[in-house]
Amino acid sequence: MIYFVPVQLKDIFEQGKNYSWVKPEVCPACGHYKVWGHGFTARYFRDFSDCLYLKCYRCPDCLCIITLRPDTHFSRLRSSRETIRTHFEQRQVKGRWPRSSLSRSCLRYWLANLTRLTSVHLGCDWKGGLLAAFDWLLSMGKTPVSRVM
Ligand SMILES: [Zn+2]
Repeated sequence: MIYFVPVQLKDIFEQGKNYSWVKPEVCPACGHYKVWGHGFTARYFRDFSDCLYLKCYRCPDCLCIITLRPDTHFSRLRSSRETIRTHFEQRQVKGRWPRSSLSRSCLRYWLANLTRLTSVHLGCDWKGGLLAAFDWLLSMGKTPVSRVM
C-alpha cells in the first residue's frame, strides 16, 4: 500500500538511500505495532533526471508492503498535485494550457480522465467547472486525473 508522507523530493534526490525516512508507528493496513524495513523501490518524478529511491516497510502480521511516497504527488503520477492543478487552473482561466514541458498527450489524457470522473461523480450536467470538480474529487480522496475510478 502507498503511505503518503510529508517529504521534499529534492532531499530524497540529494541523499538517495541515506535519506532519513520516518518509519510508520504502526502498520497503516492492520494497526500492528511494528513494521520492518523492506528495502527501497525506484520511482521517477518530473524534473528529476534519475530515479528516486522510496523506502518500503513490511508488516510481519498482515504481510502488507508499505511504500512511503511524497504527499505532494498522487500515486502513479510523476507530476506534483500542484503542477497538475495549476495546469487546469490556467486552462480554465485563460482558455488554454500553459507553456510547459508536459506533453499535449499527457494533458489531454488528464483532461479526458477528469472529465469522465466529473461526469461519473458529479453528473453529466455539472456546471461548476473542471477546477471545482478537481478540488471536489481531491477532497473525496480520489486522484482527479486518474483513469481508475
Ligand atoms: Zn499489517
